[in-house]
Amino acid sequence: MTEQSTVTLTTATPVTLPDAQTVTEVEHYTDSLFRFRVTRPASLRFRSGEFVMIGLMSDLDPVTGKQKPLLRAYSIASPAWDDTLQFYSIKVKDGPLTSKLQHIKPGDQVILRPKPVGTLVHDALTPAKRIWFFSTGTGIAPFASLLREPETYERFEQVILTHSCRDLAELKFGQELVEETKNDILVGEEAQSKLIYYPTTTREPSAKMGRITTVLEDGTLFADLKIADFNAENDRAMVCGSMGLNTDMKRILEAYGLREGANSDPGDYVIEKAFVG
Ligand SMILES: Cc1cc2nc3c(=O)[nH]c(=O)nc-3n(C[C@H](O)[C@H](O)[C@H](O)COP(=O)(O)OP(=O)(O)OC[C@H]3O[C@@H](n4cnc5c(N)ncnc54)[C@H](O)[C@@H]3O)c2cc1C
Repeated sequence: MTEQSTVTLTTATPVTLPDAQTVTEVEHYTDSLFRFRVTRPASLRFRSGEFVMIGLMSDLDPVTGKQKPLLRAYSIASPAWDDTLQFYSIKVKDGPLTSKLQHIKPGDQVILRPKPVGTLVHDALTPAKRIWFFSTGTGIAPFASLLREPETYERFEQVILTHSCRDLAELKFGQELVEETKNDILVGEEAQSKLIYYPTTTREPSAKMGRITTVLEDGTLFADLKIADFNAENDRAMVCGSMGLNTDMKRILEAYGLREGANSDPGDYVIEKAFVG
């Protein structure tokens, strides 16, 4: 179902915003990261871990005098059962969308195309003992959905979230997420016994420093978590980050014997880009 509403944007002329949803909450973490919530279209069904296209109308084209939707892929950072939809966003200085999106406030409207897709879903993985969520930067967003998804705890005995960022302030969203998950009415009890959080910084000094690929390859990660049996029988993984992280993780996971899965062919691990470029 397509929802239509009339809003006034940058000009005095009202324009019709297709698939409009209303912003209900905004929180800024750093000058390059923020999260927000919007209303959920009544007809929207999605699987935890999927992404949708969201955006705003562009500025008026000086030649045609028209505006068009400026859309980007965004992971839904809330579980499939939630009443509202959360997103965790980068602010790119000259980014066509985020240079504007970073200024939204409650009551504003954003476009949300209600066609969720993605590979970071339980359907794409076969059962095993542990699930690993490997993320960098805003790549934690799909895991904010999956961490609060009951199926995650039904399917796995242990749930390990790794999140690597340059600085400590960039870890705050993840820290709050883990705290909220452990207090969640639906999954809190399970999360308290099954969820392990492993944050690292790559630039600012912190309790645990280093790229996740480095601590994985040199064995620090397994030593810290006292895990000695990482293999295709016990472990499943979902990866979301930069191209560099995704390429390196693919190589590392395959060296351990894990096979890439897909919606149509469930396997041992799945990967999705957190952004293009
Ligand atoms: C499947 C998928 C899911 C995505 N989910 C999210 C999400 O949940 N949150 C989110 O903030 N972005 C997400 N993105 C990226 C998003 O689509 C946009 O690229 C981002 O919002 C910036 O838009 P822009 O128009 O301002 O700049 P763009 O022109 O889209 O990007 C400009 C440049 O900024 C850098 N960049 C873009 N996005 C990021 C990012 N997230 N982290 C670090 N650098 C970045 C890249 O170098 C890119 O070339 C996702 C992308 C894909 C493909």
